[in-house]
Amino acid sequence: MNVSLESLVRTNILQLSPYSSARDESPDWMPEQRVMLDANENNLGGPLDPVLARYPGNLRNQLTAQVAQWKGLETSQVFLGNGSDEAIDLLLRAFAEPGRDNVIQMPPTYGMYAVQAKIQGAEVRNAPLNPDFRPNPKAVAAVTDQHSKILFLCSPNNPTGASLPESFITEILETFPGLVVVDEAYQDFSKEKSWLSRIPAYPNLVVLQTFSKAWGLAGIRLGMAFAHPFVVRQLNNIRYPYNINSLTIQHALSALKQKEEVAQQVAQIREEREKLAEALKTLPTVLEVYPSDANFLLIRVKDADSLYRQLALQGILVRNRHKELHCSQCLRITIGKPSENQQLLAALHQFDIHS
Ligand SMILES: *Cc1c(COP(=O)(O)O)cnc(C)c1O
Repeated sequence: MNVSLESLVRTNILQLSPYSSARDESPDWMPEQRVMLDANENNLGGPLDPVLARYPGNLRNQLTAQVAQWKGLETSQVFLGNGSDEAIDLLLRAFAEPGRDNVIQMPPTYGMYAVQAKIQGAEVRNAPLNPDFRPNPKAVAAVTDQHSKILFLCSPNNPTGASLPESFITEILETFPGLVVVDEAYQDFSKEKSWLSRIPAYPNLVVLQTFSKAWGLAGIRLGMAFAHPFVVRQLNNIRYPYNINSLTIQHALSALKQKEEVAQQVAQIREEREKLAEALKTLPTVLEVYPSDANFLLIRVKDADSLYRQLALQGILVRNRHKELHCSQCLRITIGKPSENQQLLAALHQFDIHS
């Protein structure tokens, strides 16, 4: 399907003239060499690093360039947000007309798609995964119509841990009449390859990634959306002018110089995941350990609510997914450091003895 991106955007967004600063309008500025009397900053420098006395426009451009180079894309294909949650919100605001348009998700999946869509006043349609957590193309087709603007795919999926098959995503990209968002928050932990390389081939593809999971920087709130330049432009037009702060940018630029260290931690987490999965399978209270491409395991147990409470009493917090579709008696467990995983196993062992 040849999706016309322009026809997907809400009219008010297409017609918007975005906020523009003096520095946007004077693109050849070099911050060190110019006298900047344009933005009412404190030019004496403030109490901390004088870099922080400035709005972060130039730093943002530096980070965008670094990310583009790292991912092998043009800067025009890169959007930076306050977490990938901001990208989800802005995609909905740019493309889903309240009261008219709908968006589609495949539960059980990440909760923010539906929350943000409802805040936006867009209808949320469900195309549930099969009980074995495989996607169901017929369910997607059944709820798609001309007002379907965004389909959210999460791969590897939260909370199941499973990646979506390549053939399924390809079929969706070629048939869905709106944007196809592939949320790759957990991609670093997966054996499958990213969809980033397919962006030039599919103008309706949006890939989300984040610094919050593998990168160990959830606290700085930095997410990325990669897409056709037209889509990136819409997101940039509607974001707060300075949605990414200078502290975040400084930390991200430092982290990008330490890719090796991150790769090592990711490898270690993957190893721990396999070890923990094997150990869990030997426990009588654990009925099933689902295969995972992420940094967590979904397990089915005999009594999820009771086990959840017992763990909490011992100071171990996991995510109870018992009420999610197809997830009855399921807990989602983040892979911890080795000592934490041992603590968890010991607690589960206790539970087995006493129940
Ligand atoms: C954690 C998570 C995110 C949110 O990431 P932020 O960048 O921290 O906002 C997005 N998608 C999925 C599926 C997640 O699990």
